Amino acid sequence: MGDVVLQTATINWLRSLLGKSLRLTFVTSQEFASLIDSHPGLDEVITFNRRSGEKWKHLIQKIDHADKLNPIDLIIDLHGTLRSFRLRMSYWTTPCLVADKRRWERFLLTKLKGVWAKRLIHTHFFGLENQVERVINDFESLFKDSRGVRATKEYRKGPHDELTTLALLPDAKIGGDYIVLAPSASFASKRWPIRSFLELAKKMIDSTAFKVVILAGPDDKFCEVFNELKSERLLNLQGKTSLSESMGILSKSKFCIGNDSGINHIAEAYGVPVLTIFGPTDPRFGFAPHGSSSKFLSKELWCKPCSTTGSKKCFRDKLYCMENISVGEVYQTFLSMGEKS
Ligand code: SF4
Repeated sequence: MGDVVLQTATINWLRSLLGKSLRLTFVTSQEFASLIDSHPGLDEVITFNRRSGEKWKHLIQKIDHADKLNPIDLIIDLHGTLRSFRLRMSYWTTPCLVADKRRWERFLLTKLKGVWAKRLIHTHFFGLENQVERVINDFESLFKDSRGVRATKEYRKGPHDELTTLALLPDAKIGGDYIVLAPSASFASKRWPIRSFLELAKKMIDSTAFKVVILAGPDDKFCEVFNELKSERLLNLQGKTSLSESMGILSKSKFCIGNDSGINHIAEAYGVPVLTIFGPTDPRFGFAPHGSSSKFLSKELWCKPCSTTGSKKCFRDKLYCMENISVGEVYQTFLSMGEKS
């Protein structure tokens, strides 16, 4: 989900560079379609429902149909996976650009066991810059404007000068100023302890004038702990919103605090300041928040990062990367962000 949101920067950039003459089609999984299907920079979104077992040939038929109406001039593979490779091979005569996801560099960081060695690799060799800028930096020199000079970067859009921009959505129907807490993540070890989120929510309610909205998916039953907080200023929406509704709620929030997950990327795409809590993954992978008002918290440990996606089970006696981040530290960081924004 985060990858799709971040690539809206590439959509903005291509559109600003090539103007209205460009016809831009985005191919993605059905589950992520509502993230971008109303993006103003896109002409068409073609989806593939892998969960329902949709056959590969159906996806090819949809792309063939689009190709017949408007012949494809260029394929840009932003994902760099086996599936996207297979898709490229189906159109092997069409020119193609492939985004370098720096998988080897990320893998190397997981193998090095030493904080200083990791810093050295990061600073002097690979420079794992933000994913959002990386793709554009890699491709930039290949695109020239009509005068034959290197194109300027005009992908910073929107009132918050952010790199990513999602479509406009209707107002969220929650009165007053509110903060979103997003305790979910794709893997259990990427979640800051739920009791810490609960304590943080309580602190927010007791010490600030904000309402607190909990956003999480239908499977995130661990969010039921928030029902312990009997407060009219807490709204637990776990499992109660569609992706589009969650996007609407995020777009109107004042802050979002969550793990290294897609929800924080969506909030940033709407220019909302976020505080991202990193556990077993590393901000150097390129998924740290990029907004000028956003921040992240991440502890440097010899064992971290222990996998490139956070999917591996912790091999230590407890989740030090997460448990070493205290509620007080998150709250103080949040306060400092409030002073800045
Ligand atoms: S404490 Fe270390 S080994 Fe355990 S999940 Fe965190 S980074 Fe990985």
